[in-house]
Amino acid sequence: MKRGPYRGAIPTTDVLIVGGGVMGAALAYQLTRLDPTVRVLVIERDPTYAEASSVLSAAGVRQQFSTAVNIAIAQAAIEFLRAAPELLAINGVQPQIGLTEQGYLYLANESQRANLQQAHALQRAAGADVLLLEVADLNRRFPWLSTHSLAAGSLGVSGEGWFDGQSLLQALIAKAKAHGVQFRVGNVVGIEQAAHAVRGVRLSDGTMLSCAWAVNAAGPWAQQLAGFAGLHVPVVARPRTVYVVSCPTPIPRCPLVIDTSGFWLRPEGQYFIGGVVPSVDCDAGPLTPDWDGFERDFWPALSRRIPAFEAARLVRAWAGYYEYNTFDQNGLVGLHPALDNFIFMNGFSGHGIQQAPIIAQAMAELMLGGRYESVDVSDLSVERLVTGVPLRELNVIG
Ligand SMILES: Cc1cc2nc3c(=O)[nH]c(=O)nc-3n(C[C@H](O)[C@H](O)[C@H](O)COP(=O)(O)OP(=O)(O)OC[C@H]3O[C@@H](n4cnc5c(N)ncnc54)[C@H](O)[C@@H]3O)c2cc1C
Repeated sequence: MKRGPYRGAIPTTDVLIVGGGVMGAALAYQLTRLDPTVRVLVIERDPTYAEASSVLSAAGVRQQFSTAVNIAIAQAAIEFLRAAPELLAINGVQPQIGLTEQGYLYLANESQRANLQQAHALQRAAGADVLLLEVADLNRRFPWLSTHSLAAGSLGVSGEGWFDGQSLLQALIAKAKAHGVQFRVGNVVGIEQAAHAVRGVRLSDGTMLSCAWAVNAAGPWAQQLAGFAGLHVPVVARPRTVYVVSCPTPIPRCPLVIDTSGFWLRPEGQYFIGGVVPSVDCDAGPLTPDWDGFERDFWPALSRRIPAFEAARLVRAWAGYYEYNTFDQNGLVGLHPALDNFIFMNGFSGHGIQQAPIIAQAMAELMLGGRYESVDVSDLSVERLVTGVPLRELNVIG
């Protein structure tokens, strides 16, 4: 591996990853898969993952993005997720991640139609299995949908759906540990640096851990961690509520629906889960469900679009943080230009769990071989914070 600019005593570890959520765990797995000799240490302050986005996620996977890089990642991601039971098996025992390929249905009104068509053309050119539907097609395929005010829809025929985020996280951790990765409970409160490089991190108990490479996989807390190194990443923790609702009328083969109003909904066991951008949004608010938002924002829009939900019952709800990139709502990945050995995997703004295995593979390739080999994710480079040129993803949900 390219050991980075570290000079002097042998560091505690080759790669020190701060954050053991899906990004950190996936990177630990990919690094040790590609190079079994690399020493990887993951520091995670909460091994219960109570507030980690990875276990509070809706864990959807889709091809329907508006940027070429996200479509390329999505194509690799669905292949990874399909193969995950085999790839992450330990001693022949395959983990189940519950991948359900039931598609995404993006809906558009007249003013959204041009964007939908443009994204559709890009997706088709990249080989994605997506269909553009006129209102008559929508009526025929989805008789439970009210097509009032709709102009078109886009349906992922294959390669889209959802999975169990917690199971993926646990499988990645277990496989990384089987590869020899060390997971240590600790709260990183400082970053030591010299000569344009991170030398190590300081834990709240005073322990110093040195490294050849450091990685910011701190999810919604990425900005705080970057701040310890004197850097700024525009990533904020935005609470998002997931409502669990029952519907008295069966809705067979319901895809993940994304409405013109911004709500999303998908089946989950005997229920449905869904959410919406809150009309009152805030950064770093408490991680408690927005109960008022159900009546105020979610349910009115839902029952207008799918009238069967007029009789819906709110079963429960939870909240998690989007690690929201306020600059352009896309991942910020790779080396930070200010430091020679500090890797960022942040800011995915609601589409991070599906991207984690592929972003992790790309980061592992960068650290081990100096360049991206499988999927070129350079469009997501942190450097765009320096150039000031955004890579706007239009298909951000919530
Ligand atoms: C409601 C909701 C719905 C979502 N739906 C989808 C979806 O459908 N599809 C999709 O792809 N994505 C979705 N996402 C986004 C996705 O879940 C996240 O992008 C992804 O889980 C981020 O993973 P992470 O490892 O970066 O962050 P996390 O899982 O939050 O992990 C970060 C970890 O870092 C640790 N940490 C932070 N700071 C420190 C420190 N200083 N020292 C030690 N440890 C530290 C934290 O304890 C935490 O465990 C959703 C998110 C939410 C909240």
